[in-house]
Amino acid sequence: MNFSSVLIEKGVEAFASLPGIGRKTALRLVLHLLKQDKSVTEQFGEALLKMRQNIRDCSVCHNLSDEPVCRICADQRRDRSLVCAVESIRDLMAIEDTGQYRGLYHVLGGLISPIEGVGPGDLQIDSLVERCAKGEIKEVIMAISPTIEGETTVFYMAKKLQPMGVQISNIARGVAFGGDLEYTDELTLGRSIVARVPYGER
Ligand code: ZN
Repeated sequence: MNFSSVLIEKGVEAFASLPGIGRKTALRLVLHLLKQDKSVTEQFGEALLKMRQNIRDCSVCHNLSDEPVCRICADQRRDRSLVCAVESIRDLMAIEDTGQYRGLYHVLGGLISPIEGVGPGDLQIDSLVERCAKGEIKEVIMAISPTIEGETTVFYMAKKLQPMGVQISNIARGVAFGGDLEYTDELTLGRSIVARVPYGER
């Protein structure tokens, strides 16, 4: 693509650096913004900057949050005896979207993978153990993909949490389960949480 303007070229490059956006789409977005009032681009840029500068980790569950404690953790109507452990924030969002889960979460930030050099210390496992040590949490649901890394991570966490008297359960696998929770449809995912099974039973 040949641009007569370095500024347009820079704008296209910025959009094209995002996943799933090629240069053609990037150019379309740039031209679209140029057709709009300047204020539209200003608001767009401001929204991105504000989000990037102010968003943080929830100090309890490690979900993304505007405040030190996220909305889910702060919601006193939720079942505080129940925690769902997930690999990523996207998995948390997928489960939230089902509308069928009313407990709390814990975002691990990955899975144990010796091959990739990810150990338990690189993940938010100790902070989950600390949360459980406070005594309010009765059950941890492992909503984690049934891969080798997933199984290893669940095994490691169960070994730490079970002696503390915390019940461990796995989300039901009877339903189609493609690996990534975010690609499972809401109804199926919701059902698999409701029909969870105690860890160790399949
Ligand atoms: Zn939280």
